[in-house]
Amino acid sequence: MFKKILIANRGEIALRVVRACKEMGIATVVVHSTADANGMAVRMANESVCIGPPPSRQSYLNIPAILTAASLTGADAIHPGIGFLSENEEFARMVEEHGFTFIGPTPEHIASMGDKAVAKDTVKALGLPLIPGSPGIVKDADEGLSLAKEIGFPVLIKAVAGGGGKGMKVARSEDEFRSCFTMASSEAKAAFGNGDVYMEKYLSNPRHIEIQLLGDTHGNAVHLGERDCSIQRRHQKVIEEGPSPILTPEQRKFVGDLAASCARKMGYRGVGTMEFLFEDGKFYFLEMNTRLQVEHPITEMITGVDLVREQIMVAAGNKLPFRQEDIKFSGHAFECRINAENPATFMPSPGKITRFHAPGGLGVRMDSAIYEGYTVPSTYDSLVGKLIVHAKTREEGLMRVQRALEETIIEGIQTNIPLHERIIQEPDFRAGKFNIHWLEKMLARQKEETKKAAS
Ligand code: ADP
Repeated sequence: MFKKILIANRGEIALRVVRACKEMGIATVVVHSTADANGMAVRMANESVCIGPPPSRQSYLNIPAILTAASLTGADAIHPGIGFLSENEEFARMVEEHGFTFIGPTPEHIASMGDKAVAKDTVKALGLPLIPGSPGIVKDADEGLSLAKEIGFPVLIKAVAGGGGKGMKVARSEDEFRSCFTMASSEAKAAFGNGDVYMEKYLSNPRHIEIQLLGDTHGNAVHLGERDCSIQRRHQKVIEEGPSPILTPEQRKFVGDLAASCARKMGYRGVGTMEFLFEDGKFYFLEMNTRLQVEHPITEMITGVDLVREQIMVAAGNKLPFRQEDIKFSGHAFECRINAENPATFMPSPGKITRFHAPGGLGVRMDSAIYEGYTVPSTYDSLVGKLIVHAKTREEGLMRVQRALEETIIEGIQTNIPLHERIIQEPDFRAGKFNIHWLEKMLARQKEETKKAAS
C-alpha cells in the first residue's frame, strides 16, 4: 500500500482525498497555488508545496512543478482529483514514467474516452446504444448542414474535447446552422485548444442518468447504481439524486449491467462514470468520465462504499473486495451543489466568508473546504461545497434537504442556496417529474412572474 499520496487539486475534492487517506493511514501532500495557501486541504494535509501563481496553467496544470513536488516529498502516488489534470492522458503517462502510481485509469483509457467522437465509436463496438448523430468529427459547416438535414432539426453541435457544457450549441433550423457551427467550434478552440466538433440529435425530453463504475487490475468491474443528474442549468448539474425516481427495477438492472459489462470488456481500472440520456424508455450513451465525479457522494450514501478508498486500493493493485451481488442499495440521497454566485444572475461571488455554519444531524453530509474567515478566490470555479443528504425514502430525503438548507449559514459571499430552496419547493421536483430542460424553464417562468409583479 502507498505510504504517501500527493494530491494535485484544490478545494473540497482535495480535502475529500485527504480525508480518505487519513482513514487509510496514508500520509498526504497537497500542492497549491499562491491563491490557495490558506486552503482547508493545505491545512489538513501532512505536507504542502506551493507550485505556482493563481492561474491554473502555472500551478494546477503545471506538470513539471507537480512531478517535482512529488519527487521532493517522496510521494509514491498522485491523485488528480476532479478537473485540472484528472483526464489528461499525458499527465497520467508522465506520472507513471517518473515512477509514481497514477490513481486513475490507464493513459490509453483516458485517451480513448477523452475524445468523445472516438469514445462513441469504442462503446458502440462494445454494444452501447448511441444518440443518432455524425459518425465522427464533422469537417466543416457544409458537411454539418447536410448531415443535420438527415438527422433532422434540432441538432446539437458538440466539442470532441468538451466538458462542463462548453463548446455546445443547439441549431434549431437550417438558417441558424452555420452560425451555431462556427460558435461551437470557436468556443471549443478557446476552451480546449481543439476546435473539432461532432453532432447529435438534440433530444427534447431526456433525463440524464449515469452509472458509477469501479474496476480493478484483475479483470473485475462492478456498477454501483445510477445517479439522476437532470436538474441542470446550461448543461451543468445543480442537484443530483440517486436512485433515479423514474427508472423501473428492470431498466435499472439493464443499464447497470450494460455499463459494467462494457467496463469489464475494456479492462477498466479505477472509478469511472458512464453517462446516458434516457428518453421514452431508451438509454443513449453520452460520454464516459474516467475519474471521480463531483456527485460521487450520492453513490457512497446509498451503497456505503467509500469510492475514494476503493479507488486508492485498486490503484495499489488490490482486488475489488466485493462482487456485483454483494453491493446492496439502501435509501435515497440528494446532493445540492453550493456555488459562490448570485442566485438570480449567476455571476460569481468570490470574497471573504464572514460567517459559516454547516448543517448537521442524521443523514446530513457537508463536503466543503470553506471556513469562517476563508476567502473564496476569484480564479477558480465557483463550487464551494456540496450538501448531501441520505434518508430512508425520497420523501424523507426531500424534507431533510429542506431542513439542512435552512440550517446552512454562509455570509460575506452570495450563494445559490436560495435557488436550491426554490427547486426543492417545486411540485414537479417533489413528484420527480422533470427532464434536463426543466430547471431552465422554471427559471424563465419565475423571471416572467417577477417582471409581471413589478409592472
Ligand atoms: P460535457 O462533457 O460538456 O458535460 P455532455 O456530453 O456530458 O457534455 O453533456 C452535458 C449535458 O448536455 C447533458 O447532461 C445534457 O443535459 C445535455 N446534452 C448533451 N447531449 C445532448 C443531446 N444530444 N440532446 C439533448 N441534450 C444533450
